[in-house]
Amino acid sequence: MHSANSKSSEHLRPLEYPYADVALELPIRTTYQYAIPDDLRATIRKGSLVVIPVRSRQAAGCVVSFSTDKKAKSIKQILAQITPDFAVDEDLIELGKWLADYYYCGFGEALSCISFIGFHDVTEKTQRLLRMANFAQITKQLRNGRADLNRFTPKQRQVVAFFLESANEPIAPSELRTRLQVGPAVIRNLLNADILEETLEPVDRKDDYLTLSPGSSALTLNTWQQEALEKILQPLHERRHHTFLLYGITGSGKTEVYLQAIAEALAQGRQAIVLVPEIALTPQTVDRFRSRFGDIVGVYHSKLSIGQKYDLWRKIKQRRVAIIIGARSAVFSPFADLGLIVVDEEHENTYKQNDTPRYHTRDVAVMRGQQRGAVVILGSATPSLESYYNTLIHKYTVLTLPKRVENLPLPSVELIDMTKELRERDNPQILSTRLVQAIQQRLDANEQVILFLNRRGFSNFLLCLQCNHIVKCDACDITMTYHRAGDQLVCHYCARRMKKPDVCPACHSSEVTLIGAGTQRVENELAHRFPQARVVRVDLDTTTRRGSFIEKWRMITEGEVDIILGTQMIAKGFHLERVTLVGVVSADFSLYLPDFRSAERTFSLLTQVAGRTGRGPQPGYVIIQTYVPHHYSIVKATEQDYDAFTVKELRVRKILRFPPYYKLISIVFSGVEEELTRTVAQRFANIAKSLAYQKGLKGLTILGPAPSPIAKLRNRYRWRLLIRHGRTSTLHRLLDASLTKFSQLRMTSKVALSIDVDPLDLL
Ligand code: ADP
Ligand code: ZN
Ligand code: ZN
Repeated sequence: MHSANSKSSEHLRPLEYPYADVALELPIRTTYQYAIPDDLRATIRKGSLVVIPVRSRQAAGCVVSFSTDKKAKSIKQILAQITPDFAVDEDLIELGKWLADYYYCGFGEALSCISFIGFHDVTEKTQRLLRMANFAQITKQLRNGRADLNRFTPKQRQVVAFFLESANEPIAPSELRTRLQVGPAVIRNLLNADILEETLEPVDRKDDYLTLSPGSSALTLNTWQQEALEKILQPLHERRHHTFLLYGITGSGKTEVYLQAIAEALAQGRQAIVLVPEIALTPQTVDRFRSRFGDIVGVYHSKLSIGQKYDLWRKIKQRRVAIIIGARSAVFSPFADLGLIVVDEEHENTYKQNDTPRYHTRDVAVMRGQQRGAVVILGSATPSLESYYNTLIHKYTVLTLPKRVENLPLPSVELIDMTKELRERDNPQILSTRLVQAIQQRLDANEQVILFLNRRGFSNFLLCLQCNHIVKCDACDITMTYHRAGDQLVCHYCARRMKKPDVCPACHSSEVTLIGAGTQRVENELAHRFPQARVVRVDLDTTTRRGSFIEKWRMITEGEVDIILGTQMIAKGFHLERVTLVGVVSADFSLYLPDFRSAERTFSLLTQVAGRTGRGPQPGYVIIQTYVPHHYSIVKATEQDYDAFTVKELRVRKILRFPPYYKLISIVFSGVEEELTRTVAQRFANIAKSLAYQKGLKGLTILGPAPSPIAKLRNRYRWRLLIRHGRTSTLHRLLDASLTKFSQLRMTSKVALSIDVDPLDLL
């Protein structure tokens, strides 16, 4: 892709073009042509949002180009323009095209995801404001002694004096009344006498983050940081794209490097995007960025209202915001001169979008960097194997921060073999004797503890001791999770609920028991063992409400909490000086997932969790409970030896022909009728196989169709096909041809097909 930096808006205007090509939010890669009505000619640009007729309905779309030639016999007119001052930038339209082609989604679907406000109709929020009419004249008269304030009542004079003092700063009527303690009549009379005037003015909607004035200044970098920064600044100063992998152990000062690189981009008059894996991370990150850069830092995330997103877009366009921090879609921030993109914790799975368009934020960031000549920094203590591999083949440059700042030691790690614990104790608990002991020590010393486990809910699942039946969801074939609230079982895929049965649904035995430990169950055990400890639980169940995470975060940092209990949400980026113990209640969960990435996930999760401790003056300690103490991902995580783990894991991937050595595209067929779904998947596989043969595509594998590990979801059976090759372009060629052939067969509409390029989960 090439940069589209055309600044002239003249040629974007459709003055001489009768037709606009509009991308609709549909799973199609083509556009539709519409006539531009005269009254919209002056305002419609490339990227404008419009309402158009589609059959008998209306739909929203985005104008992506203009044309003079009619493409069909009868062409309908655009009905209206929505959010008229808004437009998707030209370079983002180009990126949308790439996204649609690469990830197999509709052009309009890609654009509605890229556009900061979707295809919505939004307006500015306005507010009534008061100020003095003829302010200049009146001040002049006062100075010449020609104005006479005596004709005003004392209250009125107070109001006039207020505006004179504030240099006629506009103020909301209600605020003026409370400040000066005057009634509405006073203001009304002044308005009638044309002393005051009232206007409607755009205001910013409130956001959830406090305004911080820039206070913190750049730290003096250590030699490792300095070396990394210098390497980053070279392409930045030359306005040339390059991708760096900043591989630095937790607490090694990566964020300080980002901050100083961003300062350089700002000094060039350019802008920066900082991507973080989850919104849960942002309170602390945002604080750090705002305290360095102030209000030019904007926060973009999915929980903002459309209005708030629109305001942020406006601030970017007015150059009031030059840095955006956000999760996935912040990568599309519409900056005019993007200089730098940071992808923090680049190995995180949350960077992959789970719905259409199924893009990987890291890969889009690199693509956008290429497109805009921007520098990209991928930061991690446990880089993804993909990124690490890209440094081996010299696509990315690796920069290493091998030491913790101020030489703080890495925490010591102790493994607890839970099978031994099970064998040796009559009444085994979720928390081993050793872990309980260690927690008590920290509580006595008034230090903080993080307890980590990988699951929500009170307990994991309901097991029959007679027939080994596990209660699963009827619709999804997924183990249901017990929740104490309501004493019920819940499916975490489709949210189906049922009362916890007292007898086994299969054999009617009453010997059913809850197995495993969810956060709620651990919370109970903690309350039982450490009744005086203050425990806070951080997981999806307790933080979905807006602002609730921020409140918990405040309690934690202000020392109102002794034990922080949570899921992987707390494994990331936290920096808490008082935490001296991290306990991993169950390390193995992700190892049991049917997925080639499970070893990598286990390793990186454990390493990240361990990094949450020992960041203050006290040394850190980590206790990991596991049933598989000899698995290499757990052993290497204990030794905090990324290189050794990666060398071994890369060898495994190469032998098994998995990423990063090979590329995958997953195609899932789903339908209510199992047999039909399987048949259609098989037909598609046959088409792909014969096309691969015809086209002489060597080294290509077609795996499946096989039932997906989630064999049934929301009452639809799922069969999966994987196609594999060393190059994505070859996979695209094959898939494009197969899809064409397949659609010509017009087989059935009862089976849906969903494509995932570079899939992260094979579920
Ligand atoms: P990372 O992002 O790699 O986890 P941080 O950037 O959060 O590491 O740094 C860890 C701590 O060290 C922070 O409190 C940060 O302010 C501090 N720090 C970073 N760089 C320096 C430096 N050059 N001198 C002093 N303190 C630093
Ligand atoms: Zn379900
Ligand atoms: Zn049973």
